[in-house]
Parts: sequence; structure tokens; C-alpha cells
Amino acid sequence: MAATLSDEVYQRGAGLGCCLSIAPGLTGPAAPRGRPAMSIIEQADCRRSTFSLSRADERAIDVVIDLLRPARRLLFITGAGLSADSGLPTYRGRDGVYRAGVTTCHGLTIEQALSGPMLAARPEITWHYLFELERSARGGVPNRGHRVIAEMESYFDAVWTVTQNVDGLHSRAGSRQVLDVHGDLHDLLCTQCDYKVTVPDYADLALPPLCPRCQGILRPTVVLFGEQVPEEKLDRMWYEFGVGFDVVFSVGTSSLFEYIAAPVELARAAGIATVEINPETTAVTSEVDVKISGRAASVLDLLWERYLVGWPWW
Ligand code: NAD
Repeated sequence: MAATLSDEVYQRGAGLGCCLSIAPGLTGPAAPRGRPAMSIIEQADCRRSTFSLSRADERAIDVVIDLLRPARRLLFITGAGLSADSGLPTYRGRDGVYRAGVTTCHGLTIEQALSGPMLAARPEITWHYLFELERSARGGVPNRGHRVIAEMESYFDAVWTVTQNVDGLHSRAGSRQVLDVHGDLHDLLCTQCDYKVTVPDYADLALPPLCPRCQGILRPTVVLFGEQVPEEKLDRMWYEFGVGFDVVFSVGTSSLFEYIAAPVELARAAGIATVEINPETTAVTSEVDVKISGRAASVLDLLWERYLVGWPWW
């Protein structure tokens, strides 16, 4: 059965996710292995490990590097916590859009306001909250965590990123194998005709925005509550899972959606190494082989810096 953003699919917790790329993902084959030349900015990034992590996290990072040395195919599953290091609010965090049991200024739950039926009936209401969501992400740029994952694509046979984020930051960081299962706030399409446009932000949009061709209501490609998660993206994720992964990472997500937790659980069951990077305990913490409790950007930065010491391994 197709996955939708509904209570049935969102069965792991009390809350709900909102959703949310440039349908980029299914680009060509992995880049050939080989260390590419680094730009000056990237070299600066590599020198910049001045944060502090707990000793336990430092040891866990060394364990992960041992896992990465023989690895050829990696899967990253990412969520709002990764973009939190770019200053974007998480969904359930303090400044996030979701508040359990709280109704919006329109007297609706956020799930009602950000739903497909509401967009059809009262587009100005849905757009009010879409605007708030986009405004909270406006000006955000990829952080070191996004860039490390993008850089990894050049070092391994395949590095797939399955993200719930709707901010487009993985693609902006240079990742090419991205499956943004919740869409992208910046990609708009007409609900009446085939008009499409990519916007840098919503600052200049009339709310609700209208199609310049047919005056129909525009909407972002994000998956609203009650709508189906794009099947082709989940299918591609499972296809790549079938090809095989050596390490599966869960980064900055509460993993409350079934289709986000399942790859971690199945990886564990199949004997594939699993790693979680998240300061908090989540729905998959008990499933992973290695838990790193630091912040995503700092951990990925240090991990990558240490991995590159002594590279190549053969
Ligand atoms: P969530 O808000 O449910 O959970 C965020 C997770 O990130 C938490 O487990 C938290 O402990 C962790 N976290 C916070 N700061 C972190 C950091 N610096 N490093 C690592 N982890 C950190 O988010 P979710 O699981 O992604 O689900 C939320 C839903 O809302 C998704 O549907 C998502 O599409 C949407 N959303 C997207 C964005 C975005 O595009 N940036 C932002 C908010 C919400």
C-alpha cells in the first residue's frame, strides 16, 4: 500500500510530520573513486575541527571510521536535525512548526492546516503555514554536515541520501544521489495546468500564489498531510537497498515515519552496520550498532577529517 502522511503511516509516535526538492535524485552512476581536488573553502572546512565532543562520541567516531574503510556503498537518512546546524528550526523542536495538541491561529491543528484537503478548500490557510515554514528556513545555507555527505559521493561507489527535509540543502551542497521523499518548498507547480517554477524563497509571492498561465493555485512539491509520499522515490530507496549498503546512517531525525525507520531496522536485521548521529534518543536508537550523541555537522566534520587521514586505504 502506498505510504501517505497520515496517522496510519506515522504510527511510531503521537506527533505528525509535515513534509516536504528538487526531484534531483536519480542522477547517473556514482562518481569514480578517487580523491578530487579540494577547493579553498573545502580545505578550510577540513581544518576546522575546533568543537568538542564527549570521549564516548570520539571513540564512536573511530569505530565508524573502521566501518567506512572497507565500505563501498553508504545510505544516509537525514532529517531536520541536520539542517538545525544551518540554523533552521526542527519540526518538533522549540521553534518548530509542530506543537502537539495545539491549534493554530485559524483554530486548526497543524495537520489540518497543512493538508491536501485544506489546500483544495482554503488555499490561503495552507499557504499561510507554508509561508511560515519557508520563512523559518529562508537564508539557510548547507552546513559542514551537508557538504561532507556530498563530498563522500566522490570517495565511495555510491552514497545515497534519503531526506525528509524540504529545504533543498543536500542538493545545494552538491549531493546528486538525493531522494527527497517529502519534496522541496522551492519547487512550485500549478494545481490546474503543467506550469512549474523554482523560486529562491516566498518573499515576493502573493498568498496564495496564482499560476501566471491559467490563474490556478500554485503549490510546492511538498507532501502535505494525507497525501502520498512519492512512490518512485521510496521504490528507488528500496531498489538501492536491494543492491546493498555497507553502512546505514540515521542523522538528525526522530525517525517517527515508518518508511524512515524501516531501512535502519532492516539493515540491522541483515547485519549491515547502522549508525545514528543525534543528541537525543529516537525511535531507532535501540536498533543501531553505533550511537553518536553529538551534533550532526560537528560529528560529520570530525568523522570525515579523520577518515581522510591516511587515505587512500589500498
Ligand atoms: P523532527 O523535528 O521530528 O526531529 C528532529 C531530530 O533532530 C530530533 O530527533 C532531534 O533530537 C535531532 N536534532 C536536533 N538538533 C540536531 C543536531 N544539531 N544534530 C543532529 N540531530 C539533531 O524532524 P524529522 O524527524 O526530520 O521530521 C520532521 C518533519 O518535518 C519531516 O517531515 C520534515 O520533512 C519536516 N521538516 C523539515 C525541515 C527542513 O526541511 N529543514 C525542518 C523542519 C521540519
